[in-house]
Amino acid sequence: MKPSDEIQVDIAIVGAGAVGLAAALTLAKAGRSVAVIGPMHAPRDGRTVALLDGSWRLLAELGLTEALADRTAPLAVMRLVDDTGSLFRQPPVEFRASEVGLDAFGWNVENAELVETLTERLRDNAAIRHMPGFVAEIAADETGVTLSGEGLPPVRARLVIGADGRQSRVRAAAGIAARDWRYPQTALTAILAHSRDHRETSTEFHTRKGPFTLVPLPGRRSSLVWLLDPADADAVAALDDAAFARRVETQAHSLLGAMRLDGPRGRVPMGGLSVERFGAGRMALVGEAAHVFPPIGAQGLNLGLRDVMALHDALADHSDPGTASAVEAYDRSRRADVRLRTGAVDALNRTLLTDMLPADLLRGAGLFALSRLGPLRRLVMRQGLAGGMRG
Ligand SMILES: Cc1cc2nc3c(=O)[nH]c(=O)nc-3n(C[C@H](O)[C@H](O)[C@H](O)COP(=O)(O)OP(=O)(O)OC[C@H]3O[C@@H](n4cnc5c(N)ncnc54)[C@H](O)[C@@H]3O)c2cc1C
Repeated sequence: MKPSDEIQVDIAIVGAGAVGLAAALTLAKAGRSVAVIGPMHAPRDGRTVALLDGSWRLLAELGLTEALADRTAPLAVMRLVDDTGSLFRQPPVEFRASEVGLDAFGWNVENAELVETLTERLRDNAAIRHMPGFVAEIAADETGVTLSGEGLPPVRARLVIGADGRQSRVRAAAGIAARDWRYPQTALTAILAHSRDHRETSTEFHTRKGPFTLVPLPGRRSSLVWLLDPADADAVAALDDAAFARRVETQAHSLLGAMRLDGPRGRVPMGGLSVERFGAGRMALVGEAAHVFPPIGAQGLNLGLRDVMALHDALADHSDPGTASAVEAYDRSRRADVRLRTGAVDALNRTLLTDMLPADLLRGAGLFALSRLGPLRRLVMRQGLAGGMRG
């Protein structure tokens, strides 16, 4: 017999980050009863996410793009600058969204603001229950999974989705093995105001010490993602706000004019994570519970939102969303996409980490080829976006 205070739902989602919240809204829209467990608060650390076309369309389907419009800036141009001082330095390369028939490659938004917007939408949805505690225990049997934790009523679900980030408890409970690795890099993040227009252009400087990227935000503002070795990152992070802004301005060769800090700053150690499978025993993993990689090429959250779309599709024909065939269908559908992108971003990051001449040459030749060959440029741009499209 079930305990009297037990809550029963079709699907329980552990973790209320951007991916967990998007999963809740998507699956509730498909007619499931949903519970989301976890604190709904993303730290303000200067992190922004560039939402590619497919992600933007998912948010549009959830009716969120209007609420996000004032908080996002379109990325119409991506500019790559070889700032290595290399003998084989190449001129800057620019990719325009219009070359592939789009208005923008994506839309950049502060991660905390995205979470806030998703949270507001979720509060209006009667099919979703939200419980702000942490899940401590997960007990699965043949017909369902029971979740419990301090201050939480027990929740019984037919399917549990682990959207609980890198240290996922759901992943451990499902017995899914993960490979976890570190890079000798730290990402510094910040939001800055500047005196010149960014013209909807994201600029990525490739330096000897790592990529340094400025991504447009609404108005004369941009977000910074700067990958450095940990000792250099510590030294830059120790600067006061004014000195930090001057350091960023110098590093950007004053491309955007005078800069000042206009929001929070953050520091994230870089690592990667991949899993042997995406679901097992009435549990499925989405977002950083299933894959983590460095912020190169705007892949992380976009891949997490593609997990959500794939899960929606895999569950569509199953009245019981936790049956083995539904979880297996989801696992199969995510393997190729996630492996491809984890491998590509890892390989690119390792090239950027190496200081050797052959890598310089390769990178120079790659940038050169990309800048000159129209069809190749279009192919690369589509590759970046293709996975974001449905169907
Ligand atoms: C510097 C930087 C820049 C980035 N830029 C981009 C970009 O441009 N584009 C892009 O697509 N991606 C980008 N990413 C990646 C992106 O930020 C992440 O992929 C995304 O935020 C992960 O979301 P998530 O919901 O999976 O995980 P998280 O945001 O980590 O959410 C997990 C949630 O689970 C909760 N939780 C954990 N354990 C429990 C528990 N036991 N019970 C209940 N709740 C629990 C946590 O409190 C948290 O709220 C970037 C990352 C970094 C570091």
